[in-house]
Amino acid sequence: MAYTNSKMVVCTKLSPNHSGLRTHSIDRISPHCVVGQVTAESLGNIFSKSSYRASSNYGIDKDGRVGLYVEEKNRSWCTSSSANDQRAVTIECASDTASPYRMNDAVYKTLIKLCTDICRRNGKRKLIWFGDKNKTLNYSPKSDEMIITVHRWFASKSCPGDWLYSRLGDLAKKVTAELSGDDEEDDTEIDKGLRAKDLAAFSNKEVIAKVGPLFTADQKKTGVLASISLAQFILESGYGKSELAQQANNCFGMKKSLSGNTWAGSIWDGKSIYTKKTKEQRSWGTETVTAEFRKYACIEDSIADHSAYLTGARKGSALRYEGLKGCTDYRKAAQIIKSGGYATSTTYVEKLCSIIEQWELMQYDADAAPVEEEKHVTKVPYLIRVSKRIDIKRNASASSATARKCPVGIYTIVAEVNGYGKLKSGAGWVKLSEVQKI
Ligand SMILES: [Zn+2]
Repeated sequence: MAYTNSKMVVCTKLSPNHSGLRTHSIDRISPHCVVGQVTAESLGNIFSKSSYRASSNYGIDKDGRVGLYVEEKNRSWCTSSSANDQRAVTIECASDTASPYRMNDAVYKTLIKLCTDICRRNGKRKLIWFGDKNKTLNYSPKSDEMIITVHRWFASKSCPGDWLYSRLGDLAKKVTAELSGDDEEDDTEIDKGLRAKDLAAFSNKEVIAKVGPLFTADQKKTGVLASISLAQFILESGYGKSELAQQANNCFGMKKSLSGNTWAGSIWDGKSIYTKKTKEQRSWGTETVTAEFRKYACIEDSIADHSAYLTGARKGSALRYEGLKGCTDYRKAAQIIKSGGYATSTTYVEKLCSIIEQWELMQYDADAAPVEEEKHVTKVPYLIRVSKRIDIKRNASASSATARKCPVGIYTIVAEVNGYGKLKSGAGWVKLSEVQKI
């Protein structure tokens, strides 16, 4: 089986402390206690020092976020036992600094999810805790079994601490229950792509980092500008946290049938639906109706169907969003979408553009010049001199509202978009033609 890494990872800091490829396939999981309420980043920094001589495959931080330090294919240096590390996925969990090394709820919940994910990707359907060193080490797991081992069996340590040690039976039971739930699903759908549920614990910034590349890939296939459909995703699914996204991976509110529109190339299977009560705008007010929405196996499918709609929907014989395919100007693309009748909100274009500018989503556009890396791109940050009072705009565009006036002085620019420079203070954007670079 080919080794993969977890999609739950939000921070990757690969450590030099490992032995390269495993010599034994994965059939164990060894959870550890960090002895500190650390962040995924700080744990990664510790393991990044070769002098530290230790590492783990994963870490779960105090907020339940997952770090990757040694890829699953490689043997980490974690359990004081070469034989164990060769076959175990090792996980360092943020904990208190004193016995019983308690872990908080977020950590434990993530540990259940991460163990489930590790089992699933490695073809295991059962996680087993014997609670007995000799029995465990003499046991030959069946091909679908994953076994829990602990550091204290291999070194005179209390790791993973009595708090977690006393819960390992519960952990095994919960993970196995999650895995047996898979039986009810169509096996071919599992792990096909990213599911909105995988984003539930992520911050908005982490969601964008995770889904951004999916939109870049989609643009290369469909010609729909990544920044614009990513902004629609953010606006319409609330960073993937809406009920429709969480329950049906439907990130754009795509209904079962869209009246008056036909288009080719839909990836939707034509039958999976999710029923939800929605408020519909009527001439006399709002009415609550039960509507049927498309249900997708993963976010990638939702993106693909949305792009197929945008590029293929017709109004009579004409394309509803004529000119969108291949359009690389997000403001123009937003206008085409609005003019085609996608949304009724009069401020839809502004909303999309300000989301794009706020998060600098242009970086996900295919062929976008990578920020800082290419020589012809202006290096930021740099200093400017403002010699007369000018406007500070909320967003990088002439039509954006003015946040306030910028007094005369020297300022730092940290990003450039559309001829506007972003002030380091966060106050907003200034027009670069009105200032002097120094
Ligand atoms: Zn340990």
